Amino acid sequence: MENKNNPEESANKPKNFIREIIDEDFKTNKWGGRVHTRFPPEPNGYLHIGHAKSICLNFGIAKDYNGKFNLRFDDTNPSKEEQEYVDSIIEDIKWLGADFEDRILYASDYFEQMYNWAVELIKKGKAYVDDLSADEIREHRGTLTETGKESPNRNRSIEENLDLFERMRKGEFKNGEKVLRAKIDMMSPNFNMRDPIMYRIVHAEHHRQGNKWCIYPTYDWAHGLEDSIEEITHSICTLEFENHRPLYDWFLNELGIYHPQQIEFARLNLNYTVMSKRKLLQLVQGKYVDGWDDPRMPTVSAFRRRGYTPDAIRNFAEIIGVAKRDATTDIALLEYAIREDLNKHAPRAMAVLRPLKVILTNYNITEELDAVNNPEDISMGVRKIPFTRELFIEQTDFMEIPPKGYHRLTPGGEVRLRYAYIIKCEEVIKNDKGEAVELHCTYDPETRSGTGTSSKKVKGTIHWVSADNAIEAEVRLYDRLFTVEAPDADKEKDFVEFMNPNSLEVLPSALIEPSLKNSKPGDRFQFERHGYFCVDTKFSTDEKLVFNRTVTLKDSWGKKNN
Ligand code: ATP
Ligand code: MG
Repeated sequence: MENKNNPEESANKPKNFIREIIDEDFKTNKWGGRVHTRFPPEPNGYLHIGHAKSICLNFGIAKDYNGKFNLRFDDTNPSKEEQEYVDSIIEDIKWLGADFEDRILYASDYFEQMYNWAVELIKKGKAYVDDLSADEIREHRGTLTETGKESPNRNRSIEENLDLFERMRKGEFKNGEKVLRAKIDMMSPNFNMRDPIMYRIVHAEHHRQGNKWCIYPTYDWAHGLEDSIEEITHSICTLEFENHRPLYDWFLNELGIYHPQQIEFARLNLNYTVMSKRKLLQLVQGKYVDGWDDPRMPTVSAFRRRGYTPDAIRNFAEIIGVAKRDATTDIALLEYAIREDLNKHAPRAMAVLRPLKVILTNYNITEELDAVNNPEDISMGVRKIPFTRELFIEQTDFMEIPPKGYHRLTPGGEVRLRYAYIIKCEEVIKNDKGEAVELHCTYDPETRSGTGTSSKKVKGTIHWVSADNAIEAEVRLYDRLFTVEAPDADKEKDFVEFMNPNSLEVLPSALIEPSLKNSKPGDRFQFERHGYFCVDTKFSTDEKLVFNRTVTLKDSWGKKNN
């Protein structure tokens, strides 16, 4: 029976192999017309762009098939987990627009149920307490070419196992003294089936359970149970768990409980960055960056602070799609998605990052000129910008000895000031080091943008701000955090050795046009010819605005004539 709940819109989405599986499940009515996905982060770090991909995938599927999406904290390891991470993860997922409704769930809330199921397996003769040390267990596991060796404790009686397991829970043993293992097959060609560990003893305080527990379930034991309890239909995870699927299935089959389907997809890898939480934590703790939300980090909180939009990140996830083979995605694709989105929505403004003074010797009035807020969206209107005798232009827009093809200002040369007039450089004032510090120019009154009567054309157009009205602001420019594409590929070297020493450039005295005076943290703009920027939420104050460069512009209109 075909299920009518399968909504039309899912048909319009690009089909990936996961959606094909779900379509097929609807046809066979495998799940009674239900789709229920989850995102199961371990709260041991902030979310990164790889997690964002997984969130977009899981939530996108739930949404398109009228299903449900759970946020579940896989909080099974007390020693690395913290409330700070839980809070940041909730904030990031909400910001990405993934709606888990009231379902913020915690694996630790299922510990009692998991314990009872473990007891059930012991009673079936399918689990045993082992006294071997971690090293001994590893040695017994064998290799790819050698089968494993059975532990001398493998054939303990059920009664003894039940007693020991209960005493493990009561805290009678020290960390590492005992473990509970599944009794499967030490000869299995699949390592994961060689009597995997189900419980470890960890005497540590849990961020939610306090000291209630001192045995903690392993990922392999816990994950399928969590999915089962929540009646997940499609348990989507990354490829490295493919070899764990037989174990996922084994536990659920042995217990005879609700059994979701695990589906693996290729994790997102991006070049010029690292994505493992362990490495990101190393960057934070080693103070290589200024916290998890340092705008150079590949974390969701860093992207938010840097000015990325949830729409752009969702589009990026859509563009890269879902694959079955691991590959590395070019970070330029992410930047492309950001630009596409900001181009449509970010109001334009003029900002001079490295100011050079210009005095218009024949101009003695003040005018208010019209500037278009967004040529991509005329409904965003126009604003007035003051034009005055003293201005600032970008230092790089003047060259005393220009190379061929340089269309900006030169001694005796002419250039158009955006939204204003054509000016001519008459005199260069220098300091004692021979650097230009001031340009004396004249303007041509007939060349005013839009209304001028002159037909004069020049090749270059540059931006500017009024010296009387501009606001001083700090501008922070970011470059890639690493100088090589795969900083963690070289096993001989620590990835931090490949950090880009110039990944942050702070310009404390940039000048921005006065219309930006009342901008609020998080506001986004395009600074013409410089890229997209947003007001920093951490360092900006009422006294001084601080802008992050979100992404550079691909195109510049500086060369064009307008
Ligand atoms: P890391 O390897 O960065 O420490 P993790 O897999 O240990 O990440 P979890 O908190 O366990 O982090 O991940 C939560 C979910 O996010 C998992 O379902 C995992 O498959 C998914 N995920 C993690 N990294 C990526 C990635 N790079 N691309 C896609 N999905 C990912
Ligand atoms: Mg993990």
